[in-house]
Amino acid sequence: MKIGVLGLQGAVREHLKHIEQSGHEGITVKTVDQLSDLDGLVLPGGESTTMRRLMDLYGFTEALRKSDLPMYGTCAGLILLANEVIGQESHLNKLDVTVERNSFGRQVDSFEEYLEVKGIDETVNAVFIRAPHIQSVHEDVDILSTVEDKIVAVRQNQYLGISFHPELTDDYKIMKYFIEEIVVQYHAQVIK
Ligand code: GLN
Repeated sequence: MKIGVLGLQGAVREHLKHIEQSGHEGITVKTVDQLSDLDGLVLPGGESTTMRRLMDLYGFTEALRKSDLPMYGTCAGLILLANEVIGQESHLNKLDVTVERNSFGRQVDSFEEYLEVKGIDETVNAVFIRAPHIQSVHEDVDILSTVEDKIVAVRQNQYLGISFHPELTDDYKIMKYFIEEIVVQYHAQVIK
């Protein structure tokens, strides 16, 4: 599979490594034209306000709102996928969830955990950095993981949203889940 990583801002290289370690081709995406060549797209962590400005500027907002491409957002990427963000306007409106930013304290309160994630057999190494959490979900959204009663991983059809940063560890399970259980299945028309 050809998996793009939106390369405007944030943790791009780390995701490319995860894609390649999962046995697939990773592509840095800097222009909208590249989208038509992809099977799936990763929206990395970083700073969501900066990222959305750059996405508006380079035409990604419009193109991705219209697109059915499978997408996986981590942290800031999750904020961009949500259709409701507390205190500000939403952006791509792909996941029917309400997200609250910076819900686990400040940068110094960053933490690491091993989480149970639905659909993945072993626990997943998760790093939280000024992470958002998912405050509520529509009934069509599948909750995949929680921490301290806060929802931190969800899936709805071909969209995956994760509060934390698997790409900062050598744990490739979430990327493999995205590619094998979502991207491949979507293109085989098992999910729509
Ligand atoms: N706090 C950041 C934001 O709201 C997200 C943090 C991250 O992606 N590590 O955009």
